[in-house]
Amino acid sequence: MTQKQRMLSGMRPTGRLHLGHQRVIAYWAELSEIYESFHFTADWHAITTQFDDTGNLRDNKREIVIDWLSAGLDPEKCHIFHQSDIKEHAELHLLFSMITPLSWLERVPTYKGQVAAFAETGKDIATYGFLGYPLLMAADILMYRPVGVPVGQDQLPHVEFCRELARRFHHLYNVEIFPEPAPIFSQIEILPGTDNRKMSKSYNNYINLSDSAEVVKEKVWGMVTDPARIRKTDPGHPEVCAVYAYHGFYNKDAQQQICANCIKGSIGCGECKKMLTDRINVFLDPIREKRAYYENNPEVLDEIVDEGNKAARKVACETMEMVRDAMKI
Ligand code: SF4
Repeated sequence: MTQKQRMLSGMRPTGRLHLGHQRVIAYWAELSEIYESFHFTADWHAITTQFDDTGNLRDNKREIVIDWLSAGLDPEKCHIFHQSDIKEHAELHLLFSMITPLSWLERVPTYKGQVAAFAETGKDIATYGFLGYPLLMAADILMYRPVGVPVGQDQLPHVEFCRELARRFHHLYNVEIFPEPAPIFSQIEILPGTDNRKMSKSYNNYINLSDSAEVVKEKVWGMVTDPARIRKTDPGHPEVCAVYAYHGFYNKDAQQQICANCIKGSIGCGECKKMLTDRINVFLDPIREKRAYYENNPEVLDEIVDEGNKAARKVACETMEMVRDAMKI
């Protein structure tokens, strides 16, 4: 049997996941049919910006794994692990830091932007750790020698950084250890926030996978609709309405009819939101059920992560042996 090629992806454990994340997780699950897939909670990355607020870190790591499993990752088909459980990531990060010109880190497009964005909130994240964040990410990725990483367009510079670093390492030590990972672009259609802006924790415009039916109802009730529509009989403009956009994701078959009725002014926004609430709750029910299973069986969860850690550590140890050999350490 031919060995599957490897793929790696991670997420910062910063709280419960939302409907937008579910689409990414479903995509990861698809990829795990093709690749040997590693998924990790990037807890050290979370600390680069939340160094002053780590109280929930352990809970968040646990919650994100529950969300992943509830939303579609099959532990039989992928490896789930915590970054900080595999100490080799820290070693590779340190060794890479010896060969990485400072200018490479300073020119990463997101660096200055994020430092400025946090400064506006009164927080200084211009630390040694945050500057080295793309390097830690490169160590995370190259450690598993994957052929690809699933990314959005905005993360492309990080993958390019990784490829450049692999080339520099090979050139300096005259070895070929790391395949240059290719970006794996998804065709996932992006779900907007409940206010029709980009879905974001900072805008508080999302529905969590773990929200109860009642909370979903409240959030859908608060969704942004066509502001020009005052009475039910006013002709609507569904293209500016977040509820309408969500029908396209969770009530596809009825979306066209809703559009026609909205334009004609023959459906009220309340009725339209009620239909959407029902559809989202039907969609979330199996996810809630799985969540309840893992919450009630913590030993199963621990076992999944233990197995994932074992698989990750095995590859990480192999990589580090090659790296130490190459550097004559
Ligand atoms: S009827 Fe539905 S699609 Fe039309 S504005 Fe109201 S909520 Fe939006």
